[in-house]
Amino acid sequence: ANTTTEFDTIAAISTPPGEGAISIVRLSGEDALPIAGKIFKGCDLQSVASHTINYGHIIDPENGEVVDEVMVSVLRAPKTYTREEMVEINTHGGIVATNHVLQLLLSHGARLAEPGEYTKRAFLNGRIDLTQAESVMDLIRAKTDRAMQVAVNQLDGNLSRLIKNIRQEILDALAQVEVNIDYPEYDAVETMTTQMLLEKATTVKKQIEQLLATASQGKVLREGLATAIVGRPNVGKSSLLNYLLHEDKAIVTDVAGTTRDVIEEYVNVRDVPLKLIDTAGIRETSDKVEKIGVERSRQAITQADLVLLILDNSEALTDEDRALLTATQAKKRLIILNKTDLPVKLDEVELQQTVAPEDIIAISALTATGVDQLEQRIADLFWGGIDNSQSTTLVSNARQIGLLNQAKQALEDVLAGIKAEMPVDLIQIDMTRSWELLGEITGDAYQDELLNQLFSQFCLGK
Ligand code: GDP
Ligand code: ZN
Repeated sequence: ANTTTEFDTIAAISTPPGEGAISIVRLSGEDALPIAGKIFKGCDLQSVASHTINYGHIIDPENGEVVDEVMVSVLRAPKTYTREEMVEINTHGGIVATNHVLQLLLSHGARLAEPGEYTKRAFLNGRIDLTQAESVMDLIRAKTDRAMQVAVNQLDGNLSRLIKNIRQEILDALAQVEVNIDYPEYDAVETMTTQMLLEKATTVKKQIEQLLATASQGKVLREGLATAIVGRPNVGKSSLLNYLLHEDKAIVTDVAGTTRDVIEEYVNVRDVPLKLIDTAGIRETSDKVEKIGVERSRQAITQADLVLLILDNSEALTDEDRALLTATQAKKRLIILNKTDLPVKLDEVELQQTVAPEDIIAISALTATGVDQLEQRIADLFWGGIDNSQSTTLVSNARQIGLLNQAKQALEDVLAGIKAEMPVDLIQIDMTRSWELLGEITGDAYQDELLNQLFSQFCLGK
């Protein structure tokens, strides 16, 4: 699909809702210029040079009323985001005027864009592949610099290149099989062919496994590491939370930019985005009796990828502490001994019977002692083992991971087939399947349904 497909002309407000100095209304499609021209006064948009910004006014043709003073970017195909004719109207009259501009475009021949439709067109018109489209979404949602780098890296097409190389290797092997099959009279050919397939399938499977090994980090960068801060009342949960939040690292975002009702809270700890679970219960420092009971803690623990269990170093362990130690045993956890600025009362020997020493970190939330080490431990837990350099390609979303796993399975079938001495043409079928599955990752083989589902996750106007 390398030629531009003809679509109708779509319009949407591309800047986030709310008040801003300017808003942008975007048009894409064959009639973008004529439609904009119907409501714009200032110059003839169809005769100005491409990639210019033009000053003028939006006029309601019905009554001649001036709606807004605007700057209009004219972007002629194919050097545009969608590869189609595009117009971007920079309004500055606030949300009412911006909506009015959009309404005028809609009543003069444009259709309201679906979420993600601009990016979808960029894909359908062959400008980007699916992994790149997905990285656009990641960029919008990126929660730390690191997450942003991964998305930019993917937008560059690094993952696509890797996948394409792997596919090429499989294709070479399949071509070799075809050639060999043409010489059935030589007995050695069959053995040679299976030997070659064995080697190829093994190396390709290894490459896929290397990509899959990055998946859990990639997922966390996209979605955040679900983190629960738990502990009985007064151990210092709020103090630690406030410390983490006030270090200028708090990020509060709405999920996906689409559902505005779910607010999630993130803290960025050494480029690991922690998605904090149930901070409502530990928000207020003035709480006399904390509302976060054991039951609520258990729920938070269940949802968590990482538990920060806080104990008070200046008091003996209580049954509630012990209950929380047991409840978090199977989890990835750090046991935080807080209030180390006070005399020690906690029995560390008892604690070490159930907790590995390296999982215990002594801090004082009051004096901020040890918090650096805590942050370093969280970063190590997360990045442990993988190369944290900028150039790492991380597989990051469930769709890609699912397809890689299926492709790996197909290659395992190839290897099993060779072992069972199955005929080459049967083995070839599994090899071909792995090639097809990898193609779905980049969108070289795609289905409409998949596309609709994928792009509908974008925000409006993207
Ligand atoms: P939470 O109930 O677990 O949220 O505990 P808070 O954060 O509200 O802290 C309870 C009390 O312990 C407050 O008076 C804090 O000032 C105090 N506190 C918290 N961390 C420390 C610490 O490291 N050292 C000392 N001395 N006091 C602390
Ligand atoms: Zn509290």
